[in-house]
Amino acid sequence: MKIEALATLAQELGKCQACHLRQDALAPVGWYGNPNSPLVIVGEGPGGQEDDYGCPLIGPSGQLLDKALWATKMTRDRILTTNIIKCRPKGNRTPSVEEGAFCAKIWLEKELAIIQPKVIVALGSVAMHYLIDPTLKITKQRGLWFKTEDGFDCIATYHPSYLLRLSGHDQVAAKWDVFHDLEAARAKAAAACPNYNFQSDNPIDLFALFAKRQKIN
Ligand code: SF4
Repeated sequence: MKIEALATLAQELGKCQACHLRQDALAPVGWYGNPNSPLVIVGEGPGGQEDDYGCPLIGPSGQLLDKALWATKMTRDRILTTNIIKCRPKGNRTPSVEEGAFCAKIWLEKELAIIQPKVIVALGSVAMHYLIDPTLKITKQRGLWFKTEDGFDCIATYHPSYLLRLSGHDQVAAKWDVFHDLEAARAKAAAACPNYNFQSDNPIDLFALFAKRQKIN
């Protein structure tokens, strides 16, 4: 049921031309993973590699996320990852609050309404501001539990792209924060769905699953 509903939504998303961001992207990037997962990770938006392959969090950030997920006994095929915004902003710039809200109201909110996750992980400040509160600071309120407007339990943590910009002790400390936040998210989701299997036997090779999209013009 959820699989069919999300597949229909993905077909509609592929045709979206509702805002100016569409003109600089190859195509919108939807979700990847298991629609029955009690845990959903919401990132910011596609970067260059995500746009190329049509998969959320497949580039360097996604590869770091996969390592963190593996360390917390999760794999990408068993959870679900998606983004606030579906089209890559030109030059990989951070989308504005207005751009994120415009896209999320059309697509992300429908995805979440179908999936009905027990736990949402907001990855980075763009997701935290949309899902929880635009006045929060990721450095202060990550790791705390909030309710989204629609009543989903939500915890924010650092986006892996932020971790990649750090170095030395700061990077190690931030990686541990992400590890503990993901552990907490998994524990809450597992408490709600004790029989759900969050981890496949091996990490998933997303590049093997997604063929690179071709630019038409
Ligand atoms: S960013 Fe969102 S609203 Fe804008 S064209 Fe892409 S999918 Fe549609």
